[in-house]
Amino acid sequence: MNMITVPPRPALLATSEQDMLIDGKRVPALSGKRFETRNPATGDLLATVAQGAAEDVDRAVRSARAAFEGPWRRMKPVERQRIMLRLADLVEENYEELAMLDTLDLGAPYARTIMGKARAGALLRYYAGQATLITGDTIDNSAPGDVLSHSLKEPIGVVAAINPWNGPIGMSVWKAGPVLAAGCTLVMKPAEQTPLSALRFGELCLEAGVPPGVVNILTGMGDAGAALSAHPDVDKVAFTGSTGVGEKILRAAASTMKRVTVELGGKSPNIVFADADLDKAVPAAAMAVFANSGQICSAGTRLFVQSTIHDEFMERLAAFTRTIRVGDPLHPDTQIGPVVSAPQMEKILGFIDSANAEGATPLAGGNRLTGVGYDGGYFIEPTIFSHVTDDMTIAREEIFGPVLAAFTFDTVEEMLLRANATEFGLASGVWTRDLATAHRMSRGLRAGSVWVNCYQMLDPGVPFGGYKMSGFGRESGPHHIEDYLETKSVWIKLD
Ligand code: NAP
Ligand code: MG
Repeated sequence: MNMITVPPRPALLATSEQDMLIDGKRVPALSGKRFETRNPATGDLLATVAQGAAEDVDRAVRSARAAFEGPWRRMKPVERQRIMLRLADLVEENYEELAMLDTLDLGAPYARTIMGKARAGALLRYYAGQATLITGDTIDNSAPGDVLSHSLKEPIGVVAAINPWNGPIGMSVWKAGPVLAAGCTLVMKPAEQTPLSALRFGELCLEAGVPPGVVNILTGMGDAGAALSAHPDVDKVAFTGSTGVGEKILRAAASTMKRVTVELGGKSPNIVFADADLDKAVPAAAMAVFANSGQICSAGTRLFVQSTIHDEFMERLAAFTRTIRVGDPLHPDTQIGPVVSAPQMEKILGFIDSANAEGATPLAGGNRLTGVGYDGGYFIEPTIFSHVTDDMTIAREEIFGPVLAAFTFDTVEEMLLRANATEFGLASGVWTRDLATAHRMSRGLRAGSVWVNCYQMLDPGVPFGGYKMSGFGRESGPHHIEDYLETKSVWIKLD
């Protein structure tokens, strides 16, 4: 039995009208418009949220610009660090509320959302450390005479962060970390499905001593994101979301030459060789795709099993999958909750229909769950199709739901070709006990992360991001902060 105690209704939801956070104050949209956010496990209304539009974006960007030109960027690095360390403590102290907000808004089991506490604290402390590590270089030059040259690192300015809904508070923290460390300011737009924990995070920033205007939370729909990515006074856009919207953001940012980093979708291969430790690989392959109801960009959605173990592996995988507990996200033993919304559910069920129509073999799940315990919610069984061929729709397109496509393969060479035959390149998994296979695969896979004998590992110090249509830029790691800094070269003639 799980020992997690589910906390009471979050304090933030004491008021059912949630305003956005601009210049340190919770304010409604200038239009007065609001949108609903609902609990996908029950369909219940959680709150109505200020629906920011272009004029609110402008207000938020002006607030961020004023805060950037104010004391923030001139603050000593150690002061910014102290504030960030305080923020890390506050985020941890309030994590039960933050996790509960995400559970209600997204539908992810509380047993899962609360697990994000350690990472959130670690991320903020990692970036707090980086605040005091920013350095330029002194560079020798060959100019005639006596001339010194050195470089300065300066904060890039106003950053717009545009986030998806699949890991709300974790994403807020990940986006804010390098912004604060570098001395930039932020306008962050959470996804319309999950705006709540970002608002609470914004309040905690203020409580930690982040000056008003440094972190603004702009709630709204896609048009607010579009206005933000086109705003002439935004210096950089950090986007995480779908590849389609990523393309729109690149276009919108082009006319003012904004710096852009994009973390996009994936169709990641998870590859099991016959010599793998199957006791570990079976449950890991299942959770690589089913965790968070499959709503993870780096989910291992294409499972390749070496032909000599294929039938045994798939039988064990299907048996394990049938034991996964799907249901009420507030029940401490639930492993998988609903998917985020009705449209998302319909889209996923459409992919399941396509797999059946195109001749894949259904091995587990395949249906919406209804009836007692599922009423009003968007629950889909963890679903496996085997004997999928590389040309089928579920082999190629990102589903973002609990649906696994399984294939067989024979050799390393064949496997590399097929694993890489996708427009995406976010992540990959390899299961083998052979050192040469592990190295050949990790060198050959065109993906930003290769997990060998594990899956979905993340750490503040290790870069994460995509190849190809999965985007560019790396979040986490020692170089992430470079995306928030300009380099200025200074020449001083001494003679
Ligand atoms: P999405 O539809 O691309 O939305 C992401 C964000 O962009 C939302 O805040 C959305 O606002 C906003 N937006 C919508 N249209 C916009 C526009 N024209 N200009 C600017 N912003 C706009 O993605 P999603 O459905 O929320 O998330 C799922 C996708 O994110 C998947 O493809 C997944 O793979 C990807 N993802 C990638 C990573 C990664 O690190 N690589 C991590 C998580 C998720 P609204 O919510 O109001 O529409
Ligand atoms: Mg919601």
